Amino acid sequence: MMKIGILALQGDFEAHANRIAELGAEPVFVRKTEQLDEIDGLVIPGGESSVFLNLLGDTGFEKLSAFVRTKPTFGTCAGCILLATEVENPKQKGIGALDITVRRNAYGRQIHSAILEGPTTLKGGLLEQVYIRAPRIERVGPGIEVLAERDGHPVLIRQGNLLAATFHPELSADTRVHAEFLRLVAECKK
Ligand code: GLN
Repeated sequence: MMKIGILALQGDFEAHANRIAELGAEPVFVRKTEQLDEIDGLVIPGGESSVFLNLLGDTGFEKLSAFVRTKPTFGTCAGCILLATEVENPKQKGIGALDITVRRNAYGRQIHSAILEGPTTLKGGLLEQVYIRAPRIERVGPGIEVLAERDGHPVLIRQGNLLAATFHPELSADTRVHAEFLRLVAECKK
């Protein structure tokens, strides 16, 4: 059985665990860096990316950086921001594994949260997208595959073993995005 870690320092980690379990993998809440050695893939949930940075500290940040370079990782919203090479509004440190420039809170604060539906390259028709104080991807490097867009900006992307969304697929009943991540994990395990 695939063991999927969910970084459980803050944010909406419970909903991710439900999706992972529904798809037949084992969710593990990761609160200590040693736990990274026991998992096949990691979800970095939404929350506040600046708070994640504070809670991780320098050592946690280094260990997480090493992990995402070797094992599949799925970042949603704040998790996507953490994985980026470049973060704006304000400028902030990123792990630098996903070759993107991302702008925090690009749609304004809470009032600009929204539930939309849009096309995706994932099979199965339109994809529901829940946005909560969402970032916007302003630039993608050549190695990035875009799986969904909103108003001409990528919102679901893949780069090798990394998957990232600026919205919250864990809050929709549709499990396709998590299934795509588990596919990356299974491929990497082979
Ligand atoms: N606004 C948060 C940030 O900038 C992200 C919001 C979220 O994860 N829902 O880190």
